[in-house]
Amino acid sequence: MIYVKDARLNQTWNEVSHGGIMLKGGTSLEVNTGDWRTFVPSWIEEKCKQCFLCFPVCADSSIIIENGKRTDFDFKHCKGCGVCYKVCPFDAITFEKEDK
Ligand code: SF4
Ligand code: SF4
Repeated sequence: MIYVKDARLNQTWNEVSHGGIMLKGGTSLEVNTGDWRTFVPSWIEEKCKQCFLCFPVCADSSIIIENGKRTDFDFKHCKGCGVCYKVCPFDAITFEKEDK
């Protein structure tokens, strides 16, 4: 059995943990969940009023706050749900289909 953090694309079915369970915390940081995305948000810094309404609604902690200011998205983990886009009252976030 191997831990999720050690998972590789070429691992066989009998090497993964039983039921695909995670055997320790913090492994989500190591998984590129942004790969699941079909729509992608974009942050328009000039329009952003730093109201922070978008930050708490992101279930994936993909809106980064640094030194008390909102910065760009963590696209490695953003799954493209669009909730941040819906709550921004200043049109500082766009949301479009992502070309991959
Ligand atoms: S689209 Fe969803 S997952 Fe991505 S940053 Fe916005 S709220 Fe978070
Ligand atoms: S909700 Fe909009 S204006 Fe407020 S911090 Fe987020 S992007 Fe900026």
